[in-house]
Amino acid sequence: MIRINDNFKNLEKNYLFVDIERKLEEYQKENPKADIIKLGIGDVTLPLCPSVIRAMHSAVDEMADKSTFHGYGPQSGYMFLREAIAKNYYKYNVSINPEEVYVSDGAKTDASCIQEIFSPDGYALVCDPSYPVYVDSNIMFGRKVRYLSANESNNFLPMPDETLNPSLIYLCSPNNPTGAVYSREQLKKWVDYAIRIQAIIIFDAAYEAFIEEKDLPHSIFEIEGSRECSIEICSFSKNAGFTGIRCAYTIIPSDLKIGNIKVGDIWSRRQSAKFNGVSYVTQRAALEVFSSKSQKEIAECLSYYKRNAKLISETLDNIGIWNIGGNNSPYIWLKCPLKMTSWEFFDYLLKNVGIIGTPGSGFGPNGEGFFRISSFGSYENTLEAKKRLELLEF
Ligand code: PLP
Repeated sequence: MIRINDNFKNLEKNYLFVDIERKLEEYQKENPKADIIKLGIGDVTLPLCPSVIRAMHSAVDEMADKSTFHGYGPQSGYMFLREAIAKNYYKYNVSINPEEVYVSDGAKTDASCIQEIFSPDGYALVCDPSYPVYVDSNIMFGRKVRYLSANESNNFLPMPDETLNPSLIYLCSPNNPTGAVYSREQLKKWVDYAIRIQAIIIFDAAYEAFIEEKDLPHSIFEIEGSRECSIEICSFSKNAGFTGIRCAYTIIPSDLKIGNIKVGDIWSRRQSAKFNGVSYVTQRAALEVFSSKSQKEIAECLSYYKRNAKLISETLDNIGIWNIGGNNSPYIWLKCPLKMTSWEFFDYLLKNVGIIGTPGSGFGPNGEGFFRISSFGSYENTLEAKKRLELLEF
């Protein structure tokens, strides 16, 4: 008799965005004229840049001609894109071989699937709060998860705990939801620890393009020793607006081995069984992201979001709300005033100023009492949010 995989019964119910929508609907029913500003969004809102659109159009035209049509592509990505991704690491003084690049349809896909090539024994170490995918995917696979507390006293950047012995370590920098970014020295400690205990770091760099401070690392591979113990996952979603197009990549260095087995070979084998590659049109669009013209256009989009982030974080400073994240990430992580819980502050903002954000408690128990505001809204809405927030006093 068929049964549900018991691991799935161990998943926490995740009602965060459902609850936000429900509360919004209830409020709008009672206040049909209310003008609500949504700053909870984790999705980009600006369109793809013109150069990328042109590249996509021309790739579509290729698909219309028998001589240039593309069917199934190589499952790890076309070499033209793998080479461009590898070359892009030069700017961080990092040398990556194109063969170490695995193109996929999303960082979410890779961040959730990569763990299944490792034995379910032991446990994964995840920072709390965090992007929920790391926890859910390990639980679905039957691996235990333990948490490291990210809190005000460690600036939301937990460091290795020598009493723990995880097999997998998830680090996300810049972090979703807190916007905190690890320094080189901190990452070096993580790398040394992972090597010492023979664990693997899964480094999620989805928001690296938002880093502004000069000395902060964009890639785990900027850290000495990392090639022996790390996998990096990155995406075109947040830097180039590909959330709806879907393209990302994972870097598995050839030096990353367990015994004499190369981890990259196992991932490749897994992908050949479960994945059929990213569309040619999408990969041509992703290639165009690296052209100097697109880089200029993309930089304009990023500065648009960054201007929003600065506006929100300065406004919060002015009204006396503790916050971090706005300088190196698209998210502002704030401490709810007057000791409100995350959901109390959600209701407070909605009822008093018509602003929607995301309760921090939705990202893990340590997020309780905190709140995430996103810079992915429009400038006009962000400006309006500033005016409304300035009406509040704490
Ligand atoms: N990693 C983090 C930390 C994220 O916050 C997100 C999306 O919000 C993703 C990965 C997903 O990226 P993608 O659109 O490439 O699946």
